[in-house]
Amino acid sequence: MRIDLSALARQAGRAESYALEEWLGPEDGVEWKGPVRGDLGIRNTGTNVLALRARVQTCVCLECARCLEPFRIPISHQFEEKLAIGAGGQLRVADEETWEGAGDLLIEDKWLDVNELVRQQLLLALPTRPLCRPQCRGLCPKCGTNLNQGDCGCRREAPERPLGRLGEVWAGRHAAGHKRASKRKVK
Ligand SMILES: [Zn+2]
Ligand SMILES: [Zn+2]
Repeated sequence: MRIDLSALARQAGRAESYALEEWLGPEDGVEWKGPVRGDLGIRNTGTNVLALRARVQTCVCLECARCLEPFRIPISHQFEEKLAIGAGGQLRVADEETWEGAGDLLIEDKWLDVNELVRQQLLLALPTRPLCRPQCRGLCPKCGTNLNQGDCGCRREAPERPLGRLGEVWAGRHAAGHKRASKRKVK
């Protein structure tokens, strides 16, 4: 979805709201499992600023950081953004710093690329260490069996208690490494 911002940029106090229902593409290796639904409001504050406010929700498929199994998780996110209106009516993201130049992708002439805005915001909202369930038991560090599906019978050298925490840290690192490796392979 693209929105023509020229009328909003011209008229102080003008406000519009939009209902969103958009599918995002598969870029970034994220598997979106549903459309993004929500609403977006844009208001000309009268100080050469367009204030955007949005509330969106969707469903995404992520890989569990412990057991590496894919699972679905609902994501809902609220965000605000400000666009500065230049003297000639041209628009840019007001706080470019937080976007690391990504603002260029959002605005083209008078057009706001809503899907790109929502996509960038949702990527920030994804959990950094997603778990398929809070008590996920992860993989056996010896044989790689998914311990949620039953015990593999491997003997753990150390007693569970004192090293339980350390084992989890190790498994987490292993999972993160595996994830990076598998991502690279895809590209
Ligand atoms: Zn898991
Ligand atoms: Zn095992």
